[in-house]
Amino acid sequence: MSSENKSGHEFDKSIHEFDFSMICEYFSSVKRQGPGSPEVTIKALGFIDNLNEKSRIADIGCGTGGQTIVLAQNAPGNITAMDLFPDFVNALNANVARHNLQGRIKGIVGSMVDPLPFQNEELDLIWSEGAIYNIGFEKGLKEWRKYLKTGGYIAASEATWFTKERPAEINQFWMDAYPEIDIASNKIAQMENAGYVPVASFVLPENCWIEHYHNPQIPVQEAFLEKYTGNKAAEKFIAFQRHEAELYKKYKAYYGYVFYIGKKI
Ligand code: SAH
Repeated sequence: MSSENKSGHEFDKSIHEFDFSMICEYFSSVKRQGPGSPEVTIKALGFIDNLNEKSRIADIGCGTGGQTIVLAQNAPGNITAMDLFPDFVNALNANVARHNLQGRIKGIVGSMVDPLPFQNEELDLIWSEGAIYNIGFEKGLKEWRKYLKTGGYIAASEATWFTKERPAEINQFWMDAYPEIDIASNKIAQMENAGYVPVASFVLPENCWIEHYHNPQIPVQEAFLEKYTGNKAAEKFIAFQRHEAELYKKYKAYYGYVFYIGKKI
């Protein structure tokens, strides 16, 4: 896709639109759109001590709802699950119906970079797994604080460096993908500066990446390449997904996801 081709502007645009629906199609067919696991959701939930049947919970960047279902099964209260992509929210709502959780979970389409559809001090808990990077960890913590009651919690997983120095290849990959990636002590300081007690943080185990995120994509990648044979955008997209999984295997000592749990004071 060349941006130097002056006459190619409209062409580029349509390719981007195609990419977008293709990415949605690809990720709609897997349970998770980011690293995580039911065990990790339950573990993070173990640090939250303020919930009851009346609690209001938001799951921001919920994807197709992998963690939303686990939340509803392991915590009381009502959950509003929000994602930018209607396809994901449709898949989530189907998932919710399958689990008979319509009375507990409502899926809505919306963007986390806009004001959230909640009143000030309405929420007891804001959840966000592998998604807060879309607004930026620090900005998300700051902007969303007002929606929480005093004593309410935020629980968000976020890409984190495990070391102060790392090989150039992986450093460059993340500088291109998400330059806000940082070491945990800096993320925790951001949480404190934004007005939360940093109640807990823990590293997601490797199985959250490999078994729950990368491996389920392998058959989907094969099916995709078959369906879109000869399609350059599809081939490029799958090559990138595979590259990302390879990089994780090679450099997992240097980075991963950390769950951060903060309490509004
Ligand atoms: N929580 C899910 C999905 C994580 S992937 C899981 O762990 O499986 C990140 C999600 O953020 C995707 O579902 C993507 O559609 C969503 N997203 C991206 N930009 C967004 C935005 N501006 N507002 C809301 N959701 C967004």
